[in-house]
Amino acid sequence: MIDLKTYGYTEIEEIPSGLLPGRITELQRERFTVITAQGEVTAVLKGTFYHSAETREDFPCVGDFVLLLPNGSGDSLIVTLLPRRSKFSRANYSGHAAGYTKTILEQVVATNFDYVFILSSLNWDFNVTRMMRYLTQARQSRGQPVVILTKADLTGDWSRPLAEVQQSMPDVPVHAVSSHNGHGLNELDVYLKPGSTVVFLGMSGVGKSSLLNALMERDAMKVSAIREEDSRGRHTTTHRQLFMLPSGAMVIDTPGMRELGLFGADEGISAGFSDVEERFSACRFKDCRHEAEPGCAVLAALADGSLPRERWERYMAQQQENQFVQNRTNYLRGKDARNQSAAMQRKQMKKNGGRKK
Ligand code: GDP
Ligand code: ZN
Repeated sequence: MIDLKTYGYTEIEEIPSGLLPGRITELQRERFTVITAQGEVTAVLKGTFYHSAETREDFPCVGDFVLLLPNGSGDSLIVTLLPRRSKFSRANYSGHAAGYTKTILEQVVATNFDYVFILSSLNWDFNVTRMMRYLTQARQSRGQPVVILTKADLTGDWSRPLAEVQQSMPDVPVHAVSSHNGHGLNELDVYLKPGSTVVFLGMSGVGKSSLLNALMERDAMKVSAIREEDSRGRHTTTHRQLFMLPSGAMVIDTPGMRELGLFGADEGISAGFSDVEERFSACRFKDCRHEAEPGCAVLAALADGSLPRERWERYMAQQQENQFVQNRTNYLRGKDARNQSAAMQRKQMKKNGGRKK
């Protein structure tokens, strides 16, 4: 028997008889791996999930707690998605090649995490503005943000970048670590308590895999330092997406989560696409949308091949991703404001003895 609480599960009031709670640790195409009190099972979704999925928002994903109908001899059936306490979503473009006006579906890529580690490398491309963008995303997700400055072994003195982060985000804890020599990793212990879940946010190359490996192997390394020859292989051979660390904390690492890290920030995009954005100044109209306008430099470059279509589409896709994140921020802000004004109205009504004024 496994105690599901070690996987972060909190008891729910009533479980219909015959159903078993579990947490999704892996998703491969349509098949889920779910950890339950009776061990790990494979499961598929009940058909209604597909029919009702107007958006893909309520589609189960790695990190989700679910109720399933166990099947001793084959795939169990996921029948209920339990409420999420946090989540990361990304835009999912259907009909990508056909144009960019199609509906953008919300695709959830990780759920029920406690902390969002915002990774940024100390030696390369240190950029506080980008970290602030990640911070916005982290706050929207309802996970608690923690800034991790990686590759501390490559710089002698990180006091300046550390101070810069502290100044820009005074209420966010920040740590300088090295996955290579282990510096600072013990500072992360406070977040890596049994049953808590962490996700990593950050550009490709900042050291997310290395940190995961370091955290996975730290305890093992204490016991024997001779593991060099298979220090990577063991974890990459499995397709696991929710990792149980020796500390009892978990890390969710899904492909979708990684894409968030790639696309999350305006600054990152512009920096990577200066060759595209440079062309805009040559368009005849200042507010050119590069769709059908006369004198559009982008359309001309696409026509003569000097701007590869693929590159342009990639730029557009990233712009849309950004827009999506932005819209959600505005939506959530709007919602907060609406809730607040509703609360104020109720307060006012109370004052007026139930009359609406
Ligand atoms: P990811 O794309 O975010 O998963 O980044 P990786 O973990 O694959 O790391 C990218 C590169 O940075 C690799 O060459 C790593 O060896 C290197 N790297 C990661 N962490 C550290 C670190 O703490 N110190 C140093 N010196 N290099 C690191
Ligand atoms: Zn144009």
